Amino acid sequence: MDERPDGIVVRGAKAHISEAPLSNELVVVPCRAMREDDKAYAVSFGIQANAPGITFISAEPEMKEAGNFFDYPLSASVYINDALVIFDDVFIPNERIFLKGEWQFAGHIAHMFGNFHRLSAETYKAAELEMVAGAAALMAEYNGIAKAGHVRDKLTWLTYYTEAVEILGLAACEHSVSDPDSGLAYPNPMHANIAKLFFADNWHQAIKYVQDIAGGIVATAPSAADWDNPELRPLIEKYLGAKLGVPTEHRLRLIKLIRDLGSSYEDVITLHAEGSLAAQRLSILELADFDRYKAAAKRAARIADGSYDAIYSELPEFPPRV
Ligand SMILES: Cc1cc2nc3c(=O)[nH]c(=O)nc-3n(C[C@H](O)[C@H](O)[C@H](O)COP(=O)(O)OP(=O)(O)OC[C@H]3O[C@@H](n4cnc5c(N)ncnc54)[C@H](O)[C@@H]3O)c2cc1C
Repeated sequence: MDERPDGIVVRGAKAHISEAPLSNELVVVPCRAMREDDKAYAVSFGIQANAPGITFISAEPEMKEAGNFFDYPLSASVYINDALVIFDDVFIPNERIFLKGEWQFAGHIAHMFGNFHRLSAETYKAAELEMVAGAAALMAEYNGIAKAGHVRDKLTWLTYYTEAVEILGLAACEHSVSDPDSGLAYPNPMHANIAKLFFADNWHQAIKYVQDIAGGIVATAPSAADWDNPELRPLIEKYLGAKLGVPTEHRLRLIKLIRDLGSSYEDVITLHAEGSLAAQRLSILELADFDRYKAAAKRAARIADGSYDAIYSELPEFPPRV
């Protein structure tokens, strides 16, 4: 960043910025807490996306065949344009600057962005998980294995995971926090961070279960081109059929959905977008109320060291056994 009387000039790049090339305005914020020697990077501003000096390089889509909803039910439908955004000496006028070297506030902005963003991640993931659990249950049905013990265990786990993610997101909203100075209400930071960590940390397990139920066909299913070939379709119908009464086409469409749900893109967006697992762990540890937890332990252990806790010190003595 270079300072001018009428604004600042910024250079650098931000990687993986979703839908940036489709936006009218970009809002740039620091992505972590900063120290004094990071001062030149402690900037935050808004700027129109077509300002001189801004270049977008969009991510390569995994799906290569637009409009082929048979082979790519999800990825032919949704493309998130995650771009590398390059700022090559972009001028930001004073009235669009929120932070200009005040490094002490960089962490506050990054954390507040995280509070909202981790909940936003949870909201789309909760919906997607219903798709994952539904795909597993349907596949078990189509393959005729719904009653097998290991399948029931996996469906139970998928239900627990799906519903827990929903509940954690709801908790973040219901226990929102109001900033006393600005009146801004924001998602409960502890709950929002736990929601994101919980769904990201368990995503691969969920995909493993769905893939296990579906079988190797997820990797080896024929393409829409073969399905549409009148010579091949009867053979596919015969040899890749589902249980009696379920059309082969339905089984194939579901197999393709499961392949899309377990794509590298889905795996990586779940793990890294809205911050890597380490970022949530860091926030959770910072937010943890260890004074309260210690007070709970001290009360149970009958440790009277003169410390006071608003909850536990006001409770009667830990009950004796009767
Ligand atoms: C599909 C997608 C969309 C995204 N959209 C957006 C968006 O719209 N806006 C936005 O701002 N961001 C977006 N992101 C970025 C996202 O927040 C980052 O990917 C995430 O924070 C991880 O950062 P990184 O990719 O640089 O990986 P890294 O930070 O390089 O992480 C790789 C590994 O290195 C570890 N690591 C990193 N630093 C340290 C350290 N100092 N010490 C020890 N270990 C370390 C991490 O814990 C991790 O295990 C998106 C990401 C993806 C994948």
